[in-house]
Amino acid sequence: MAIDATLPYDDSNIFARILRGELPCKKVYEDDHALAFHDINPQAPLHILVIPKGAYVSWDDFSERGSDTEIAGFVRAVGQVARDNGLVVPGYRLLANVGPDSHQEVPHLHVHLFAGGPLGPMLT
Ligand code: ADP
Repeated sequence: MAIDATLPYDDSNIFARILRGELPCKKVYEDDHALAFHDINPQAPLHILVIPKGAYVSWDDFSERGSDTEIAGFVRAVGQVARDNGLVVPGYRLLANVGPDSHQEVPHLHVHLFAGGPLGPMLT
């Protein structure tokens, strides 16, 4: 169910459980600020989720409450994942859903990275 991105952070969400090691993930990258893993239901030939390690509901929450160090670290991690996977030349797409109109389902900020071949046009 789509979430209200203005609610306080709920640390029972699935990505919080992955960060605590309570649930498995197919990890592709980790550093002090971020974890990246394969999406369980890929929407492109390569579909990776990059999440900050801090407790942030959405991009909006992160940009308000995140420290400059956390924000810089997370943005650099997203770029590193793209470089590590050789995606800079062929290209890739980043997407972050915020709140119900975007169909955000998991209340922990995540950036979708889509790649692995020509992607469809962005319709909305
Ligand atoms: P939507 O499901 O509408 O794309 P989100 O932007 O909140 O909403 O994306 C949540 C993403 O998390 C989905 O792409 C879903 O497949 C993925 N996902 C859910 N559970 C897991 C999991 N345990 N491991 C990896 N990816 C997951």
